[in-house]
Amino acid sequence: MQARPTICTIFHHERTEMSSPANRKDPKALAERLQTGDRRALAQAITLIESARPDDRLRASELLQRLDTSRSVAMRIGLSGTPGVGKSTFIEAFGMRLIDAGRRVAVLAVDPSSTLSGGSILGDKTRMDQLARSQHAYIRPSPSEGTLGGVARRTRETIRLVEAAGFDTIIVETVGVGQSETAVAEMTDIFLLLLAPAGGDELQGVKRGIMEIADLIVINKADGALKPVAEMTRTEYAGALRLMRRRPDDPDGIPTALTVSSLTGDGLPELWDRMAELFDWRERNGWIGQTRSAQAATAFDRALEQGVLRAVRENAAFVQDLQALRAQVATGKIDPEVAAGRVVRQVFGTPREDA
Ligand code: GDP
Repeated sequence: MQARPTICTIFHHERTEMSSPANRKDPKALAERLQTGDRRALAQAITLIESARPDDRLRASELLQRLDTSRSVAMRIGLSGTPGVGKSTFIEAFGMRLIDAGRRVAVLAVDPSSTLSGGSILGDKTRMDQLARSQHAYIRPSPSEGTLGGVARRTRETIRLVEAAGFDTIIVETVGVGQSETAVAEMTDIFLLLLAPAGGDELQGVKRGIMEIADLIVINKADGALKPVAEMTRTEYAGALRLMRRRPDDPDGIPTALTVSSLTGDGLPELWDRMAELFDWRERNGWIGQTRSAQAATAFDRALEQGVLRAVRENAAFVQDLQALRAQVATGKIDPEVAAGRVVRQVFGTPREDA
């Protein structure tokens, strides 16, 4: 029996592919190869983006700068759902349909647990057999190093790379924990919340904040004995959504709730129709452009915050001071705000009164 490829063998494969060409890190050559749709260049570019080495970061910045942004016409889809709800089954079924319809699908993941465990389950290619084999799909697991902010940054940059390589549909998957949904919503155009059928009037403990960022609520597993339960769950959510704040970026003012079965494929065409309709409406009404501009501005703010903080923390002149101040804050000798203010003044000088 042939062994199924594991995530390790896939990575190993990509690593050996990378070691041959001399220009695998040259931003200009990489950008050119990437924009011809060269998959090997895409893997190399993503590896460069994910590297923490300072020289690689510089190359990665230059690479991103060289990409033709007019190619960014992809639909960016966020997908969230707790483990077991059927995310990988859904992506496999939905993604294959999109490919049959002529689209090219990239699947990326933001897995906050991977930063602790060092390995990502989400986006594991073995979970999506058919897609993993398709020439029209590209699957990349979550970067597994760094904070959620770092993982989000790399994923945002990876979106630009897969777009440049010609993928027109990008699915960014995440699990329903922590802040990862917000991070994914901040890099996508349409956010889907995938839920399982559940009886009773409890809304499955779904946090209000997540309902507020969802553009579509999708109840999966609407098949067999679960079908009526799924329909009931859908009705409950549709009711709850009607009570929420109206959304100017939705033609109906509230997100739609619908049922699908990732196993039988029922409901998937209707879901796609709804997504395409929503995307077109948003594009026509300027929402896509406006959202992406706001997302870029937020990304800039985050990068600036992180960059300044890193520069201060890594600057030998301040390290001692910081440690001493931190200890004083911890023992209550100095107020945290006052201590931080002192550092800021030390680094940037006293702000002008009229500033
Ligand atoms: P994930 O953890 O969210 O990625 O969930 P998986 O895709 O691994 O699915 C978890 C389980 O639910 C698996 O046993 C799937 O076969 C099952 N499942 C997924 N989608 C459906 C569906 O539409 N109908 C039914 N009946 N089972 C499903």
